[in-house]
Amino acid sequence: LEAQFLRAQRLESIGTLASGIAHDLNNVLAPILMTAQLLESQMHDERSQRLLPIVVTNAKRGAALVKQVLSFARGLEGTYTNLQIKHLISEIRQIAKQTFPKSIEVQTNIASNLWSVSGDATQLHQVLMNLCVNARDAMPNGGTLTISAENFTADEHYARMNLEAKAGSYIVVTVRDTGQGMSLETQERIFEPFFTTKELGKGTGLGLSTVMGIVKGHNGFIQVWSELGRGTEFQVYLPAVAVVEYYRQTEQDTPYGNGE
Ligand code: ADP
Repeated sequence: LEAQFLRAQRLESIGTLASGIAHDLNNVLAPILMTAQLLESQMHDERSQRLLPIVVTNAKRGAALVKQVLSFARGLEGTYTNLQIKHLISEIRQIAKQTFPKSIEVQTNIASNLWSVSGDATQLHQVLMNLCVNARDAMPNGGTLTISAENFTADEHYARMNLEAKAGSYIVVTVRDTGQGMSLETQERIFEPFFTTKELGKGTGLGLSTVMGIVKGHNGFIQVWSELGRGTEFQVYLPAVAVVEYYRQTEQDTPYGNGE
């Protein structure tokens, strides 16, 4: 408990520190970006047109990293509504299809009778996006990204075997890649803030700690499977909205019959 408390405290001060730095960095990056864009639009000589885009691109990249740090540190009060995860997944699928390299095939596989979850759409979007971006980065030579979703009931036995899980109804969203996989040493550290194996400027190491924070905020849990050279699978479990109530809302029969 003591160790847990110290860890929580350490994470909190890392968060405070990071958001302070990120704010200041934003104030530095904004004028760099604006000035470079202004010059780019006005200077038409060959050198300017070749060099200024490099400044613009990297200032934008810096701004994107700052945004990620801020969203990590800002914490997690969300706006909860009843969500159908399939809509979120089809949004993510489109983004992935349009922006990921053509060598990555994107597949989705969604159970038809999926329960709904109570969640913050923006946060859950971020969870899936972070997992998909990591999957993309793990497949530099192409491969298959599969996003699937199904219902899952954790019984008492399951809850005893999985310390994170409470018994109950969940939906489980799986993001699987056929990429490089992770060593056990890496797997042990992936949820630590700022842990990254990506080269400087490519990753903040905040993706998965943000994912974990959001999923815990939703009373869910995560399971990871990974094997070097074969790929990685992240399973995100989110508590389902009380099933019977949901079926009543949508005027379908419950799987248990209709109260008869
Ligand atoms: P970042 O992506 O900025 O490095 P994350 O917290 O999202 O930060 O990920 C931490 C590390 O976990 C990554 O640097 C990578 O080593 C590892 N990782 C995460 N997802 C995958 C994946 N799908 N395949 C292989 N390694 C992964």
